[in-house]
Amino acid sequence: MAKKISKKQEKADDIRRMLDEYFPEVPVPLHHKDIYTLLIAVLLSAQCTDERVNRITPILFGKADNPTDMVALGEDAIREIIRPCGLSPMKAKGIYGLSKILLEKYNGDLPFGFEPLEMLPGVGHKTASVVMSQGFGMPAFPVDTHIHRLAYRWGLSSGKSVEQTEKDLKSLFPEDSWNQLHLQIIYYGRSYCKARPHNVEDCPICRKYGRKEMKSQVARVDPR
Ligand code: SF4
Repeated sequence: MAKKISKKQEKADDIRRMLDEYFPEVPVPLHHKDIYTLLIAVLLSAQCTDERVNRITPILFGKADNPTDMVALGEDAIREIIRPCGLSPMKAKGIYGLSKILLEKYNGDLPFGFEPLEMLPGVGHKTASVVMSQGFGMPAFPVDTHIHRLAYRWGLSSGKSVEQTEKDLKSLFPEDSWNQLHLQIIYYGRSYCKARPHNVEDCPICRKYGRKEMKSQVARVDPR
């Protein structure tokens, strides 16, 4: 048992080393100017590409880049602007609602901590984790689809649930690497996870550590 754990840890350490080598610089992909605009951008990125969010936020933030102006802008106008990002009724409701709460309860500032952030409308654990990590610089490991799948494919997690993946990754990697690693894995996924079927030979980490079923190229079907 002890041997198995240490092998997995060795693999995790090596994967981290490779990610450092391939992605030494990982700028935050969503454009923002402060923690509030980061929160809004992350909320908009649900089921939408970062590129599209980055095209829409200059329009939105040109009209309202703080809770006071956002509330003054109103839910209907917010919805119209953010329509290209998808799920606009729900996202506009969240943006308007959370801005109102920030004004009424927090003097226009963002509360610090997972709990108060997750109490805000439209803010789930992943969004709160991104804000804690990229906004407040606190150790967090936001798990998106890329990270969830790759952690499974590299045998770092059972892939049972996003919650389990977050727990497994946090136990394998040192706390001071979480913020960087979360972005590195996203960048890895974006760079290499384009191939369908899996092109394991072209993907350095998958070539070395990908699960057996991936290497047999069963393709089309997600390995889970
Ligand atoms: S083999 Fe390529 S497409 Fe498949 S999981 Fe790895 S990086 Fe992604």
